[in-house]
Amino acid sequence: MADVTAHTNLPGVAFAPLRQVALAEALEQDLEILRDSEAGLSVQTYYGRICFAPSENGTCAEIHAPQTDFLQTLKDSLVSQISALSPDVAQGIRWSDASSAGQLPANARLMSVVQVERLDGDFLRVTLQGDVSRFTLDAIHFRLGIPPQGRPAIWPAIGPNGATQWPKGADALHLPVYTARFVRPDKGELVFDLFRHDGGRATHWAETTAPGDEVLVTGPGGGGCRVETEILGFADETGFPAVARILEANPGLVGRVTLFPGGPLGAAYPLPAHPGVQVDYAEPGTQALMAKAALAEVTEGNPPFLWFAAERSQATEVRSAWRKSGRAAKDAYISAYWQRRE
Ligand SMILES: Cc1cc2nc3c(=O)[nH]c(=O)nc-3n(C[C@H](O)[C@H](O)[C@H](O)COP(=O)(O)OP(=O)(O)OC[C@H]3O[C@@H](n4cnc5c(N)ncnc54)[C@H](O)[C@@H]3O)c2cc1C
Repeated sequence: MADVTAHTNLPGVAFAPLRQVALAEALEQDLEILRDSEAGLSVQTYYGRICFAPSENGTCAEIHAPQTDFLQTLKDSLVSQISALSPDVAQGIRWSDASSAGQLPANARLMSVVQVERLDGDFLRVTLQGDVSRFTLDAIHFRLGIPPQGRPAIWPAIGPNGATQWPKGADALHLPVYTARFVRPDKGELVFDLFRHDGGRATHWAETTAPGDEVLVTGPGGGGCRVETEILGFADETGFPAVARILEANPGLVGRVTLFPGGPLGAAYPLPAHPGVQVDYAEPGTQALMAKAALAEVTEGNPPFLWFAAERSQATEVRSAWRKSGRAAKDAYISAYWQRRE
């Protein structure tokens, strides 16, 4: 597929400091640096390539992506990076491709609720209908955009600088991430499994929404469900739907996955049977020990692919141990799926 591309000038933004900021961010996110010299920086992200080079009056930026929704994600990311350095320059950005100011961003769709069902394991299974053409085995996660309770929905729109302008203040959307459990292109359906938890705004939305209600879906992105080698997996309930996708998408996979339910109901979540992957359940309520359990099983030599999805503090503990041990980022998926707020 041909690249879609766009470029813009960043007048008054010196290349050298921008290079340092972009390099630090690339390192933080384990991104591949394709080129780094005084003549230019090029970074490969999941969504495409971001390139900076010095220009006569500052820096020029160029982005390349395989599809328009990914190009939008790169624009959003670049404008936000420049905004942190110089809000005025970020406001003044104008891209070389056709302006879509005022429209819904290419990486967002409005979908309508079909149904919400109770599912074993204390989950709600939500079915939405709309354009699901962007979902693939390599892109299974998305954000919901839930309007504030009791207010008319204001959806995001592209601003003159190409970035997504999100409704703010009382109109701000709640934007939690979910995993596509089933995608049915023939019916235009997206199904996801939402773990019910106290105080969850998404839980409240799912329990009160009605067929035909509109909700925003942005993405998908941020990873898929293909695993090439043996797996060593760990997940709490928020990761169970992704584990289900992995089991379905990789029939020849071997390995072991340990699931950590928060309570006694969690183990009832329906997972597909798999001939090569052993699924074990930890004692309910031991999620605070997930990082220790995972690290105890990561062996020297040639360990299996580590797949770890849990609360932020657990994921951070595993990621920093993984980095300290000098292992490659590509040999693991370690992700914070939610954050405990006291
Ligand atoms: C890549 C990815 C994929 C994900 N896939 C799924 C999925 O398929 N299904 C799913 O249910 N979740 C999934 N999650 C997790 C989900 O995005 C978070 O749990 C999110 O915070 C839920 O928002 P909320 O509106 O329910 O809670 P909020 O209204 O944002 O939070 C309210 C309170 O609930 C707490 N809280 C949030 N999540 C949990 C939790 N899981 N358990 C206990 N307390 C919690 C918060 O700390 C806060 O105090 C995924 C996350 C990521 C990053």
